[in-house]
Amino acid sequence: MNRLRDLDIQFVKGIGPQRAELLTKELGIRNALELVQYYPRAYVDRSKTYAIADFAGEMPSVQVRGRFISFNTQGEGAKKRLIGLFSDGTAAMEVLWFKGIAGIQKAYQPGVEYYMYGKPSYFEAGRRWSMIHPEIDPAAKPGAGEGLHPVYPLTDRLRQRGISSRHIHSWITNTLERFPSLADPLPPMVINELKLPAIRDALITVHNPSDPEKLKKARERLKIEELLYIQVDMLRTARKNKSESSGAVFARVGHFFNRFYNECLPFTLTDAQKRVIREVREDMRSGHQMNRLVQGDVGSGKTLVALMCMLLAIDNGAQACLMAPTEILATQHYETLRSLAAKIGIDVRLLTGSTRKKERESIHAGLMDGSIQLLVGTHALVEDTVQFRNLGLAVIDEQHRFGVAQRARLWGKNNPAPHVLVMTATPIPRTLAMTVYGDLDVSVIDELPPGRKPVTTVLRYEDNRLQVLKGLGAQLRAGRQAYIVYPLIEENEKLDLKCLEEGYESIRETFPQYKVAFVHGKMKPETKDYQMGIFASGEAKILVATTVIEVGVNVPNASTMIIENAERFGLSQLHQLRGRVGRGSDQSYCILMSKRKIGRDTRKRLELMTQTTDGFVIAEADMQMRGPGDIEGTRQSGLAFNLRIANLAKDGLTIQLARKYAERILDDDPTLSAPYNRVFARTLALTIPRTVEWGKIS
Ligand code: ADP
Ligand code: MG
Repeated sequence: MNRLRDLDIQFVKGIGPQRAELLTKELGIRNALELVQYYPRAYVDRSKTYAIADFAGEMPSVQVRGRFISFNTQGEGAKKRLIGLFSDGTAAMEVLWFKGIAGIQKAYQPGVEYYMYGKPSYFEAGRRWSMIHPEIDPAAKPGAGEGLHPVYPLTDRLRQRGISSRHIHSWITNTLERFPSLADPLPPMVINELKLPAIRDALITVHNPSDPEKLKKARERLKIEELLYIQVDMLRTARKNKSESSGAVFARVGHFFNRFYNECLPFTLTDAQKRVIREVREDMRSGHQMNRLVQGDVGSGKTLVALMCMLLAIDNGAQACLMAPTEILATQHYETLRSLAAKIGIDVRLLTGSTRKKERESIHAGLMDGSIQLLVGTHALVEDTVQFRNLGLAVIDEQHRFGVAQRARLWGKNNPAPHVLVMTATPIPRTLAMTVYGDLDVSVIDELPPGRKPVTTVLRYEDNRLQVLKGLGAQLRAGRQAYIVYPLIEENEKLDLKCLEEGYESIRETFPQYKVAFVHGKMKPETKDYQMGIFASGEAKILVATTVIEVGVNVPNASTMIIENAERFGLSQLHQLRGRVGRGSDQSYCILMSKRKIGRDTRKRLELMTQTTDGFVIAEADMQMRGPGDIEGTRQSGLAFNLRIANLAKDGLTIQLARKYAERILDDDPTLSAPYNRVFARTLALTIPRTVEWGKIS
């Protein structure tokens, strides 16, 4: 395997220096290993053909069999194109080429029978189907019309430079022929128990599959290997952290916790909240540093859990801090925690980017002498100037907004490193959590406080607006508050801002009797805070805003959430936004306003929102629809390398299998130094280079 890595692709037969450069730039392929790991995106079943007369609607890529009737060129110079008229006897379609025209004219003749593979598109104007730059094989060629044919992902640039899926296939085949034996990185135990093909056989099969069964087995083998690197790496890190990083022992449940629990608890904890607090308590008295993730849907009451865990730390003579991603959120947490903690005599302070110098100095001093027990803030907390006397617990809210690096900087704030509790409202499907947060222990608050009614969600269009406003009016008259949210995305900022401002004006005209607050990301922090403030206090009944309110804002009296241009939001974002309402015991409403004409996937997304309020169902669907890379929370997760063949959304069972084997491999050989793990260990080191030891950063 690693000999492949040492071969530069420019020395692969047929590639050469120029194409090598292009392949590196376009596909990131630098060496022969990366080349043979460039897996097909799909396979065409060559024994199946489609009739052109049956083309309809949105078509996948298909194979057809037929003859060219004629060729014509149109346009001149850069605009020149070649059009072939192709018929399979059921109907005719056009085949278009924009590049390499001379070569194509030589290669294909009218009257000769060909197989053609490509994605048909329909041109309304010409009322005809067409394919652009399809793959073509003479029907008489040996092997044409049988077997599975690999299709490799390409970029436009590569196509323009005349590189086809077939080129890639032949380079890979040449490379594999050049290496008649490859050392297998998979530990023998895995291969034997799962009866997997050896590495070279698996590679040959995925690139030249003879039958679907064999292909499936080969792909499974490659997926397991890939996932095993991640799982072993994560598990090893987690075990190392556990065994090496000692943590302060917080054995006592003391005065603050007990007094709060017995006298000040504003409501009974849910069983899920209790369970998570217990789990944290176990961690914090284990002698090892805690690294725990708490997943809990919006409104599940994570803040209270955080406070009670912080009280445990304080009871044991340590300080605690809570870091939130935005100023608004930090301020809100500060206010919540201050009012709760005041009852038991704990001083809570707030540190953000806009904290005045004098206050900041007083905070710095108070942290150093230990008089401040609980600090809330933004990422201003991790700055080097902020030093604690004895930081025992750091809580990070909405963890996906922070990188792994910030988490690591918090670690460096104390010796021994503080216990770390990260909280997220983005529910991550289990298999994904296993991969992305493999180095964290996970707790789930899977229960909402009693009495919550699921938010009623409806999809409405522009022509329903009057009705929507009527419904809103009724809620306002009943004394409730409402959010109206607009999208604001960078590329179209001006237009979006205009839309938002017009929306604000028109709401003020519709409801002149109510005060309307207005917030967007481009405002000065003071203005924003003021506007948020008048809404939170109930002075303003309506808040017109962009997604700045997405995270965490808590106004239980708000019962209506209108999301404008809902078609422009992703599922997770819609779910987060909707979580702003339904926080009290009255019925709440979420109205998704959309254009009538939307794509199929968009409609599916919006309809799912109207059908469920379960964050896990939504996260799962989001992942299936968009792929795991886009799920909030995975982007900065530090997933160490791009998966080439496994799919986090679809290969759940394989992930679990890889996890199981990772555990066994490490149980049996914790340092991966046994001779039978040698190739695996070496490949792992090259696949996931550990340049940064997060735990060691301060
Ligand atoms: P999130 O998990 O989204 O951060 P919060 O901590 O903001 O949720 O809690 C949402 C709301 O639920 C708050 O108003 C909070 O006071 C309330 N809450 C939290 N725990 C309970 C409980 N056990 N019973 C009733 N209400 C609760
Ligand atoms: Mg919260």
